Amino acid sequence: MKLEKSLELYTRGKKHLVGAVNSPVRAFKSVGGIPIFIEKAKGSKIYDVDGNEYIDFVLSYGPMILGHRNSVVEKTIKKYMRNGYTFGASTKGEIILAEMVCDAFPGMDKVRFVNSGTEAVLSAIRLARAYTGKNKIIKFAGCYHGHSDALLVAAGSGLATLSLPGSKGVPDDAVKNTLIAEFNNIDSVEKHLAENKDVAAVIFEPIAGNMGVVEPTKEFIEELRDLTKASGVLLIADEVMTGFRSKFGGAQELLGIQADITCLGKVVGGGFPVGAYGARNEIMEMVAPLGEMYQAGTLSGNPIAMSCGIATLKELQKRDPYKDFEKTAAFLERSLKAAAKENGIDLQVNRFGSMINAFFTKEKVVDFKSAQTSDTIKFKTFFWKMMENGVFLPPSQFEAWFLGTAMTKRDIYKVRSAINVAMKAVADKEKK
Ligand SMILES: *Cc1c(COP(=O)(O)O)cnc(C)c1O
Repeated sequence: MKLEKSLELYTRGKKHLVGAVNSPVRAFKSVGGIPIFIEKAKGSKIYDVDGNEYIDFVLSYGPMILGHRNSVVEKTIKKYMRNGYTFGASTKGEIILAEMVCDAFPGMDKVRFVNSGTEAVLSAIRLARAYTGKNKIIKFAGCYHGHSDALLVAAGSGLATLSLPGSKGVPDDAVKNTLIAEFNNIDSVEKHLAENKDVAAVIFEPIAGNMGVVEPTKEFIEELRDLTKASGVLLIADEVMTGFRSKFGGAQELLGIQADITCLGKVVGGGFPVGAYGARNEIMEMVAPLGEMYQAGTLSGNPIAMSCGIATLKELQKRDPYKDFEKTAAFLERSLKAAAKENGIDLQVNRFGSMINAFFTKEKVVDFKSAQTSDTIKFKTFFWKMMENGVFLPPSQFEAWFLGTAMTKRDIYKVRSAINVAMKAVADKEKK
């Protein structure tokens, strides 16, 4: 596989960019080798600077659910570009996108747009604290909620259940109010709530997607909703990954619950930097200018980003791809399992809607601990064989693979062939 030009850029980039990247996963650290540099993308395909073509399962970690450069979306963006890029005053697009978001999520009467998922979540936490007058928050080990100080604990890293900062530079004081519970384990939440009267909120990913894909059990979700309600604690659904991806109304619609505050990102901007948080009126009225919780942004609600979000959501509504995603994901699951069986490899396939993920382990993956039993060396071999065979997967065992509407049947058959080759390569490597 030719990666000469990527290597050249990687070498050059390292001088003035940290690790030659602007987000760590792009450095391919956990799979080794040279990180690819992208030239362009169209539809289901992405092309690196060496001209290699890949079927794209990264989809920019979620936003590009319609595939790259969808023609309707592109036309819309171009139209709005002609009016100017940012004004520091409000535009109609913000209202339209707000209406679409609130229609899709019954738990949201009002929404505030920000520039990233990280910003959405950190604002939601501030809001929960402002509303309840309490300080502590409970999060689950292995769930990722962006890189704000208070949430960089057990955020898919090895620090697991210890309430220690998951990153250097995070002061102990910033995480002393963060309590860690176990995903799919309601007792671990109950225990914290019994021991702490100062809890403002429980934050969770309705479908965990940052420790690989981990689905909650029905009981866990229902009990989590009941327990938080009964304790006067707000429930924050971080749907930055799942919003408009699992279903138009997000994972909450599928799971049949309504959180108190919902966070969005990724798909809602269709590839432009947009995040959002929203809740019922009574809670959102705490936010400035209506209330006393301050939160602002120079580029928040950016008109081009809004137009991209609106066009993306409209296309999704029109196409309603969610049943097809389910079918494609089921096909991939069967392909992965068959190839693993054929080659005598232990494999778990977890999936939910358009998110899928294979773990190289015997153990059923239900939480962060079981996710970590996965053999990341095997994943590394698998990953590079998939790349060689024209499939771009996220370069980490613990990132979800994303399906998009631009993927064709032909693409998916090609992926199956790549899986067969890659799984055999994993087995061959084992024998050596
Ligand atoms: C990606 C993600 C975030 C962070 O969003 P950014 O836009 O990267 O800041 C937060 N929560 C979840 C669940 C995510 O998947």
